[in-house]
Amino acid sequence: MKFLSTRNPELRATFEEALFTGLAPDGGLFNPAETPDLTAIFNRFSPDTSFVDIASAVTAELFKEEIDPETARNLCERAFTFSPELRFLENRLSLLELYHGPSCAFKDFGASFLATSMEHFLEKEQRTAIILTATSGDTGSAVAKAFHGKKNIYVVILYPSGRVSPLQEKQLTTVGDNVEALEVEGAFDDCQRMVKEAFNNKELRARLPLTSANSINLGRLLPQSYYYIYAWAHRPDRHLPVTFCVPSGNFGNLTAGVLAWKWGLEVERFIAATNANDVVPEYLKTREYKPRPSVRTYSNAMDVGDPSNFERLQTIFGRSWEKMHAQINEEVVTDSETLEVIREVYKQSGAFFDPHTAVGYAASNRYRHSCGEKNEQIITLSTAHPGKFLEVVEEATGARPKLPEQLAAALELPKQSTVIDNRLESLSSFLLSHYE
Ligand SMILES: *Cc1c(COP(=O)(O)O)cnc(C)c1O
Repeated sequence: MKFLSTRNPELRATFEEALFTGLAPDGGLFNPAETPDLTAIFNRFSPDTSFVDIASAVTAELFKEEIDPETARNLCERAFTFSPELRFLENRLSLLELYHGPSCAFKDFGASFLATSMEHFLEKEQRTAIILTATSGDTGSAVAKAFHGKKNIYVVILYPSGRVSPLQEKQLTTVGDNVEALEVEGAFDDCQRMVKEAFNNKELRARLPLTSANSINLGRLLPQSYYYIYAWAHRPDRHLPVTFCVPSGNFGNLTAGVLAWKWGLEVERFIAATNANDVVPEYLKTREYKPRPSVRTYSNAMDVGDPSNFERLQTIFGRSWEKMHAQINEEVVTDSETLEVIREVYKQSGAFFDPHTAVGYAASNRYRHSCGEKNEQIITLSTAHPGKFLEVVEEATGARPKLPEQLAAALELPKQSTVIDNRLESLSSFLLSHYE
């Protein structure tokens, strides 16, 4: 499979090229250039097929020009030491838990596959890479964990000093080895600007093999399609069509599901569930796309005012509102509804939902009622462990979910970070003195 820019179909790239460049040279995003029919492969999967088996088969097929089947399996075995878990709830409603990885959020799937693929290509060519990334808290920990211990790769994470939660800071600063945490005296915007300036600095790029690992990278996007296939293969009711409900911010997760559908996965419909940051739902309602600054909500990993993957979705649907609208429903969930859902679910079953999962669950219920109990089963993607969002969950329920083992362990370790001011010169001198 080749990949092409959303802005210029003449700009084609291999998977390896797209992996290391991230953004297409014209500023567009890479999308698959072809739409393979994987139906025959999907039909071989059963409720007994493991996630690694599914990931290996699909990886081998998608990247067959660059990765042989044996290597594909090896990559997937190393990347996916954790699996999604499908949990049946009630009345045609299931939850696809995607938070059993090292940072307890679904971004572990993408980050881990990206890290393992990069390591594979770098080792083969005896090259090294330095991953430079800015984080406001959450994605950084998935990246740190995914790249930890990878050969030929160094990771430098910039985060705003005093502006991430104590738990997030521990997750970023206790990994060690090939992962460096830079505590920037400034805001997240400063971190992002410094990373951008570093990438645009010719001298620095000539001296250091800088590369990025941000969420628009294909190496993170594509493996997210694998768990939709897994959920379909493991669906509780074999006879009912599947609708996926996806709590969305930057829309990478939803885009990956749409790709799986394009490759032949039987999906009745997608529900795009957002919080008050509802530019995409608004587009689906009104045909108008009006990006705007994001507002803060309880489901803060979805606080995105101009989702970058919207450009990908538009390309996939041939820039046709009708086509996108035919496949994607929209639901907007407020903060007070989010709290209410967390409270109700806890009261009725004793289970904790994190605020992002709660947005998805509220959206699924509303969709189901508005459609008058259609003949379909809804699978809601559960994107984070409730223990990651203790404050909100406690506010809603009055109780505290247990911290998952991975996170509790990080709290015990000493913080290791280097404080720098918010100038490019400070970042440059750190990088050159450490890696040149
Ligand atoms: C990133 C994130 C989302 C949103 O996913 P997108 O791919 O950006 O739409 C939802 N929930 C959690 C917990 C996240 O970390």
